[in-house]
Amino acid sequence: PISTVLITHYVKSKLLYTASVIELTRQFSLQGRTALVTGGARGCGLAFARGLAEAGANVAIFDIIDPDAAFQDIEKDCSVRTAYYKVDVSSQQSLESGFAEFQKDFDNALDICVPCAGINRHIPFLEFTYKDHHDLVSINVLGLYFTAQLAAQQMIANGTKHGSIVLVASMASHIAVRSQLCSAYCGTKGAVRSMCPAIAKELAEYGIRVNSVSPGYVRTEMTAAVGSPNSLLEPWANGQFPHLIPSWEAEAMNGRIAEPEDIMGACVFLASDASAYMTGQDIIVDGGVTRW
Ligand code: NAD
Repeated sequence: PISTVLITHYVKSKLLYTASVIELTRQFSLQGRTALVTGGARGCGLAFARGLAEAGANVAIFDIIDPDAAFQDIEKDCSVRTAYYKVDVSSQQSLESGFAEFQKDFDNALDICVPCAGINRHIPFLEFTYKDHHDLVSINVLGLYFTAQLAAQQMIANGTKHGSIVLVASMASHIAVRSQLCSAYCGTKGAVRSMCPAIAKELAEYGIRVNSVSPGYVRTEMTAAVGSPNSLLEPWANGQFPHLIPSWEAEAMNGRIAEPEDIMGACVFLASDASAYMTGQDIIVDGGVTRW
């Protein structure tokens, strides 16, 4: 009878819906995984650490500065384990001893690595010095590259089935950032984005995925430094560009610059099985700046 057919159809579709909801939840869950975020003490890195923890991962951070107070909340809010290691990613020795300590504390676990530590320099191209350029390259390129390498070695050794490396590039690898004097920074971020598929290809045989995320303008100390002489890491900005935030807002299709939380979702997606078929790719999260 028709009523039996309808009831059977209804029950089947309900079951399928429930199964797909459970599958999607499973894909996004990072329960039981371990993540490492460099530059996680504040800004985008801190938001990434928070997002990964909210999805269930234990999170360790490497940074040269002590973490913001908000880092302490992650452990109790998300019921995961967190740890901070004072590491300078531009120093091979510091990076290697940071990894050694982290491996010991976390019993060699590592599934997700987000090399995010980075700096910017706002200096005209014609005035750039070797020293300034070297600082940028040693943190943004070498620091990121060797963080990813050490993480990959650890993932291969522990045999994780969920290895994912999320490199932090920038919109500055897609466009010459308007009104900012940051040619060398653009170059370092271009290096990150172009090394991404090359590393992804080499790590594919180990089941480790490598992608990058390219944020647009995000409200952090890094961007604040462009307009402020008081930044910890960017004293050379000397308040040269106080007018820039409104112009950045005007560059975005949605009329605002991002908060670090606006970038968090792309990182969690790339870290999780929801992006299991993605590798060697870049996700731009920029309010549309690079698209008009
Ligand atoms: P931020 O200055 O707030 O944070 C950078 C973090 O990196 C800080 O905690 C800093 O202490 C740490 N760090 C710097 N040098 C380090 C080193 N040698 N070793 C270890 N840690 C170090 O800046 P942010 O805006 O959060 O930037 C995070 C990442 O996002 C950077 O790679 C940056 O290039 C990228 N990014 C930022 C924006 C933006 O608009 N803010 C846009 C695109 C990309």
